[in-house]
Amino acid sequence: MKNQEVDVGKLRHPVERWLLGLCIAASVMLFAIFLLLAFARGEVISLYTGEVVATYRQANPVAANLSDEAIKELLPAEDRETLEFLDTYLSPVIILLAPVGLVLLVVWTFGREYGKLRANAVRITARQFPEVYALWEDLTRRVGIEEVPDLYTINGDGSLNAFAGCVPGSRNFSAIYSDLLETCLRNEDWDSLKFILGHEAGHIRLGHVSWWYIMFTFIYQVVFPISYLIGLPLGRAKEYGCDKVGHAVAQDLDCKGLLMLTAGKHLYDGLDLAEHIAETVDQGSHWARMVNFTSTHPVLAWRINAIRKGHNGGVIFRKA
Ligand SMILES: [Zn+2]
Repeated sequence: MKNQEVDVGKLRHPVERWLLGLCIAASVMLFAIFLLLAFARGEVISLYTGEVVATYRQANPVAANLSDEAIKELLPAEDRETLEFLDTYLSPVIILLAPVGLVLLVVWTFGREYGKLRANAVRITARQFPEVYALWEDLTRRVGIEEVPDLYTINGDGSLNAFAGCVPGSRNFSAIYSDLLETCLRNEDWDSLKFILGHEAGHIRLGHVSWWYIMFTFIYQVVFPISYLIGLPLGRAKEYGCDKVGHAVAQDLDCKGLLMLTAGKHLYDGLDLAEHIAETVDQGSHWARMVNFTSTHPVLAWRINAIRKGHNGGVIFRKA
């Protein structure tokens, strides 16, 4: 299996497709509804005004003889603000420009992440940490990425993390925190490094960092409570899929890369794996399920379990 091409399409978590489809369909529907409302703004505003004025009149008999215009001035602040909001923003031009605004927001957010790397990180190249670059070049090719994405290492101040992103229309990139890279290099732990970089390459190859993917899924990740029903499960499905890509290139059933995140950079290499599997990974826990439900990533024990058992991993419930 080592150094062979990886068929990444088959590694995507099946739930991801459904949730992504749901996000796209719901986004298109929301856009269409807002656009229709914007084209009928006169009716919408007068309907809303009529409703709140009638409610005010009913609740305040002394206002029974006042005109609608006079009552509009007396409405509670909340209703007046809503009317002002509708008057300002319920316009076809604004609704039509909203997707453009969202794209610009994505460009700004990712451009800033890339800018931070250009400003504060070290780019890994054929002459800078050449062994790491050779590994990155090989594994990105194996997972089917045509152009080798930029790779950086950045000071994580002790945190163990890595991430991937894109500058829309320009380049894909990934970064690994310095403590993570340093630990892998010091321990000559190439399996963990392959897993971690393979996981990030998975995010790029599966399109998770594409501007359109983020644009269609953004609001479902940040708006409560829909984030708990769609955005967070989607995030967890993406992570399971990328773990599979990482495992496909690393072939490390001991899951040392995930153990490093679990026990830290000094202890992960010496812990009793069998005991950890028996004590935690193989055990279900209601509390772990609760943590999983509120997280962007599946809990580490479930991720290790999914790799070791070779299944897709449970997005909401633990898969044995
Ligand atoms: Zn990830």
